[in-house]
Amino acid sequence: MSMGAHIRAVTEKANKALNNISRLLPKVNGPSESTRRILCSVVTSILLYGASIWEQVVEKKVYKRILSSVQRRVAIRVSEAYRTTSNKALMVIARIPPINLLVKCRARIEKDGPDAKSEAQNAVMLCWQEEWDIDDGTAEWSKKLIPNIRPWFERRHGEVDFFLTQILTGHGCFEAYFKRFNLAETEECLYCINVDTVEHTLFFCPRWNMQRNIAEQILGHISPDNLVEKMLESPTNWDHVCKMAKQILSAKRIERPNLIQAR
Ligand SMILES: [Zn+2]
Repeated sequence: MSMGAHIRAVTEKANKALNNISRLLPKVNGPSESTRRILCSVVTSILLYGASIWEQVVEKKVYKRILSSVQRRVAIRVSEAYRTTSNKALMVIARIPPINLLVKCRARIEKDGPDAKSEAQNAVMLCWQEEWDIDDGTAEWSKKLIPNIRPWFERRHGEVDFFLTQILTGHGCFEAYFKRFNLAETEECLYCINVDTVEHTLFFCPRWNMQRNIAEQILGHISPDNLVEKMLESPTNWDHVCKMAKQILSAKRIERPNLIQAR
């Protein structure tokens, strides 16, 4: 079997497994991130089967794209992200290292033995961070919140969900987002005169002062520069940010249709 045929076969198998397991998981208000991550480990182990043989071809654009499209599907399920989110942001938020890096890591361990494991894994983190740092105009907001992948990736507490992921991506119930994808006529906030971005909603909009103040009583002053740092400090901090995100974004979602109509 040629390399290309092999990669296609592996991808097809991974997609099938993903469909089968996905069917078992409810779509909304369903399983926790840790349960959703089952998808990730199943798919990754299928994708990495025989990795050492096709290590050389994984950097080829066409194969990389086929393989990362499966990873993308998994990342969307794990993070509960909107489908407009960039691959780059998805992978970091869902904590799934890009497949080309995983393939190299696996190949190196198979070649050099288990002693090479920690060094190979370390190399994954370094390369991933390098890719993350490239200024290509994508994932800018996520990069601002999560400048360093490693502490985010290695954290022992904290799950992402539909609401928190909207905060982390900026893709969600924000007028600027709706406008960008032609789902709204203007970017203007429904509650004040400013442009409604994720940053505006979470950190500035007066409509959410109460929710913000409650969170800040625990967290201290929050800003885009320290939000994730504070979340990583303790499970309590993480939960308060999650709670604030859920309260604000679910209220927005409920209030939005009436406010749009009243405009
Ligand atoms: Zn506002």
